Amino acid sequence: MAVRVVVFDVGETLVDETNMWTRVAQAGGVTPFTLMAGLGATIALGRHHDDVWGLLGIEHPAGTWTMDDWYPDALPCIERLRAAGYRVCASGNTPSFVERDLRAHLDSVGSSESWGVHKPDPAFFARVADLAGVEPAKIAYVGDRVDNDVGPAIAAGMIGVHIRRGPWGHLQQPPAEAVRIASLDELPEALP
Ligand SMILES: [Mg+2]
Repeated sequence: MAVRVVVFDVGETLVDETNMWTRVAQAGGVTPFTLMAGLGATIALGRHHDDVWGLLGIEHPAGTWTMDDWYPDALPCIERLRAAGYRVCASGNTPSFVERDLRAHLDSVGSSESWGVHKPDPAFFARVADLAGVEPAKIAYVGDRVDNDVGPAIAAGMIGVHIRRGPWGHLQQPPAEAVRIASLDELPEALP
């Protein structure tokens, strides 16, 4: 069945989180090198990224999510998809203020904070289907994480698209049924 709606994850799919995590490290009183290694440990251990604070033995600095570094391929990809007739949406595990920055470029947006449910909860992907307004088989959910994005999207009956960038994208192995891309430049041609 042909995809009609593309829904994007946000962090490390549309937005480069490198500067954000660097500021988070500074706010937490550790070097970026230390925080990045700690995040790698959470990936290797299969744990939530918020467990990094417990692993490092420091307090979680509050209110650190930012939305200021779009990947250079993100907006051109969105424009190409919309020009090709796809409805294009986005929702990730983010604060609700992120929706303001997304809304200017997308047909419809959401966030875990405004929905009150986080990935990988199946209820999040039920909300994704509501946002898309079509049956799950006609939705491609695009994300960098296998545990939070690709796996639960496929379980919800959607096409799971794995973009191999960022720490999770490089270290987590997508299932055989996932569509695999290395850049959003590849997405329009990769959709079934
Ligand atoms: Mg992500």
